[in-house]
Amino acid sequence: MNTLKLVVVDDEPDMAGFVHDVAEQAGFAVEQFHNADVFREQYKPCADVIVLDLMMPGTDGVELIRFLSEVGCDSLLVLISGFDPGVLHSAQKLAIEHGLNIAGSLSKPFRHHELQQLLHGLSISPRRPSHTTPDKPLVVDELREALKSDQLVVHYQPQLSIRDRSLVGAEALVRWQHPTHGLLGPELFITMAERHGLIDDLTWVVLQQAMQQCRNWLDNDLKIRVAVNMSATTLKHLELPERIHQLVRKYRLQPSQIVLEVTENALMQELIKSLDILTRLRMKNFRLSIDDFGTGYSSMVQLHRAPFSEIKIDRSFIMEMDYDAEARAIVETIIMLGDKLGMSVIAEGVETQAEWDRLAALGCGTVQGYLVAKPMPAADFTDWLAQHYSRNPESTI
Ligand code: C2E
Ligand code: CA
Ligand code: CA
Repeated sequence: MNTLKLVVVDDEPDMAGFVHDVAEQAGFAVEQFHNADVFREQYKPCADVIVLDLMMPGTDGVELIRFLSEVGCDSLLVLISGFDPGVLHSAQKLAIEHGLNIAGSLSKPFRHHELQQLLHGLSISPRRPSHTTPDKPLVVDELREALKSDQLVVHYQPQLSIRDRSLVGAEALVRWQHPTHGLLGPELFITMAERHGLIDDLTWVVLQQAMQQCRNWLDNDLKIRVAVNMSATTLKHLELPERIHQLVRKYRLQPSQIVLEVTENALMQELIKSLDILTRLRMKNFRLSIDDFGTGYSSMVQLHRAPFSEIKIDRSFIMEMDYDAEARAIVETIIMLGDKLGMSVIAEGVETQAEWDRLAALGCGTVQGYLVAKPMPAADFTDWLAQHYSRNPESTI
C-alpha cells in the first residue's frame, strides 16, 4: 500500500513540527512548509491531506484557498487558525464554494488528540476519482458518435437501509467509455449534452440500459429498484410520462421499480410544466426523488405541491456535519420534513462510519455513498450484492 502524504503549511516551526509528529504517528509521510510563497512555488498535486494555517505573514488564508482552487487541488484540507471560530467557519464555507474538499478545522491552540482524531477519521483513498481526465477537449461530434455506438455505460451505486442494511435500490450513473480517453465521468459531458440538444437522447440511453438491467436482475430473482437522473430539459416534454411508461411495459417492469431523480434546481425551471409532468408520472406510480436537496431555492410550499416520494440530502451537508452545527441542523430539519411529508429521506455521499452513525441517530432512512460502495458496472454490482448478503445475513432484499 502507498504511504499517504500530508503537507503542513504553517509559519510557526513549532506548530508545523507538532502537526508533523502527530501525522507521522498516524502513518503519514509528512512535508513541512513555513512560507506560503515557497509552498505555492513548489506545489505538486500529490498530497492526500494539506493542513493549512490561515494566518501567515505576507499572505492570507483566502489567497491560499483561491490558489488551491485554481490549481484544481483535490487533497483533503484541514484548516487551522488562531482567529475566532466564526472566521474559521467562513473560511471553510469559502473553500467549499471554491470546490475544495474540507476535512475539518481546528482552532489554535489544539491538543494532540484532537488532531489525531481528525486524521484517523479521514477517508482518503475513495476520494480519488476512478475516471480519467482527457488531455484534449472533448468535442460534441464525439458525443454524438458515442450515443450511436453504445459507448455510454451505466454504473450502479447501492442505497442501503440504515435500520438493517438491506438494499433499498441503486442509482444509475452514466459514464462514457471513450475509445482513446478511457472511462470519463458525467461531469465531463452532461453539460455538453445539455447545451447541444443531446441530453434527451442521453437520458433515453440511460433509461433503456437501466430498465434492461432491472429486467436482467428480476430474471435472476433480484428485485432492485433503480433510480435514473432526469435533466431539466427532459422534464419539459409533455409526452415524457407516456414514453417512459411504454419503456416500462417493454421491459415488463412495474413503474414503482423506477425512481426518477430531479434536482431541486431543475424543478424550478418552468415549474408549472414540470409539475404537470411530474404529477402524471406519479399517477402512473413512478417514484420521484428530489435530488441535491438543500442546494436550490425551492420553498416548503413547492415541496408540498410537487408529488415527490423521496428527498436526497445533498452531499455538501453530510460532509460538513462533523464539524458544522449549522449543517447538522439542516440535515436534521430535512429528515424531519421528509418524515412529516411522508417522503423517504436518502443521505448522499456518506463516506464515514461517523456520518452513518449520526444519520442513524437523526432517524434518516437510507444511505448512499462510498462508505457502502462506489458506483460500479452491473456485473460487479451483482457480485457486491452477493457478498453484502453473505456479510449481512439479517438484511433482506
Ligand atoms: P448526483 O445525481 O448527485 O450523483 C451522485 C454523485 O455523487 C455521483 O457522481 C456519485 O459517484 C457521487 N458519490 C456517491 N457517493 C459519494 C461519496 O461518498 N463521496 C463522493 N465524493 N461522491 C460520491 P457521478 O457519477 O460523477 O455523477 C455526477 C453527477 O452527474 C450526478 O450527480 C448527476 O447530476 C449527473 N449524472 C450522472 N448520471 C447522469 C445521467 O444519466 N443523466 C443526467 N442528466 N445526469 C447524470
Ligand atoms: Ca442523482
Ligand atoms: Ca445528488
